Amino acid sequence: MPVDFTLTPAQHELRLAARELARTVLAEVGPATRHLATPEERWRATRPIYEKVVTEGWLRRILPEPAGGEGRGMVDLALVAEELVAVDSNVSLTLFAVTLGLTPLLVAGTPEQVGAHLPRFLEPAGAPLAAFAFSEPGGSANFDAPAPAEGVRTTAVLDGDEWVINGAKRWVSSAGGWDGRGPDLLTVVCRTGADELSVIAVPGPVDGLTVEANLDLLGHRAHQIPVVTFRDVRVPRENVLGGEGAGREVVAMSFTPTAALVGVFGLAKMRAAFEFALEFARTQARGGTGPILDHQAVGYALADAKGAMEAVRSLSWRACHALDAGSPGAAELALHAKIVGSETAVRVITDLMRVVGIESYSHEAPLAEILQDALVYPLFDGGNMGVRRRQLHALLADPGYDPSATFLA
Ligand SMILES: Cc1cc2nc3c(=O)[nH]c(=O)nc-3n(C[C@H](O)[C@H](O)[C@H](O)COP(=O)(O)OP(=O)(O)OC[C@H]3O[C@@H](n4cnc5c(N)ncnc54)[C@H](O)[C@@H]3O)c2cc1C
Repeated sequence: MPVDFTLTPAQHELRLAARELARTVLAEVGPATRHLATPEERWRATRPIYEKVVTEGWLRRILPEPAGGEGRGMVDLALVAEELVAVDSNVSLTLFAVTLGLTPLLVAGTPEQVGAHLPRFLEPAGAPLAAFAFSEPGGSANFDAPAPAEGVRTTAVLDGDEWVINGAKRWVSSAGGWDGRGPDLLTVVCRTGADELSVIAVPGPVDGLTVEANLDLLGHRAHQIPVVTFRDVRVPRENVLGGEGAGREVVAMSFTPTAALVGVFGLAKMRAAFEFALEFARTQARGGTGPILDHQAVGYALADAKGAMEAVRSLSWRACHALDAGSPGAAELALHAKIVGSETAVRVITDLMRVVGIESYSHEAPLAEILQDALVYPLFDGGNMGVRRRQLHALLADPGYDPSATFLA
């Protein structure tokens, strides 16, 4: 097949539909939430907006076709993500967190498990939430280190035919649910033996789950990031996903696609910043004789920003395509898309603030919020400093590593 980034008519339509959703529905998130004082209030105010997203069929649209949804893969998801995140980071992340929460079920669940837990997410009704409960107080970068390290401290112990879960999770999108009793489905990474991790499906409402706090974040101000504790939470033994002890593999499979998506999130935020900065440069003279775009330095800065965005789009799409095709180099490409996309976004948005100048520093302009949201990309989904770089390092150190797998296979 030739190298070809041309969108199919269906992809073109999908992109336009996502753009329309962002313009008509997601644009409401900022006005509905910015003035509210607490994270809880801001989160609750997003519910009707998220419900519209679901009733307009977007959750079903991004869930994979083989599972009963309409999603045709990562490239399509990248197109949708760019349009949604360019306009709003909060409800968009709530939506994508559902797919993350469901991924362990979709990649490792048996047909019976999928049949038991997925149907409510395929209905274009209500505001269903799923969450992938991986991160913990005390840090998760070393989640896979062998005992005596203990990157995962939440335990699941068998009592007859039931798992009994105890511990705490922090930083997990939507883990408190709308009413503090957990989302519709939690997929929880637990320690099931001294050196054994497992992922367990916990349907909501969850008896024994307590929301201890909702974190007040720098960005994603209307997204729910709680601290939750589990106290003797009981679920049937058959709720383990991918088998007992398969936790490390299930976590790796769940986070690889999201790495490519984080590159797209970075692109989306750069795009939003670029559109504002370009318009500003075209229309503002700042007391001079013509628009600031006529100054060479401003033109160069905008050109560099656009070039960086195009490079991130190409890399992220390439990673998504490789994931869809099951290419051997897909995981490496996804990690590069995450690191390059996230760090480029922070740099480019800051550069674009310098183009706009002091007016970028007030919340009257969108750039401050865009930067606040984008600052998380190098930090979450595995901080670039630790987990992702360690993963790339591990790939390079593997004697079987083939550097050409990313472009020859
Ligand atoms: C908006 C948002 C949404 C999120 N959604 C979710 C979610 O849905 N589910 C979920 O589980 N989590 C979620 N998280 C949490 C997040 O993805 C991870 O917890 C986070 O990426 C891990 O952070 P860390 O790498 O800084 O780990 P930490 O363990 O906190 O590490 C701290 C620092 O130590 C360094 N470090 C530690 N060990 C090593 C090492 N061996 N080598 C090199 N460096 C090391 C790292 O570089 C890092 O800088 C979310 C976070 C945010 C902000």
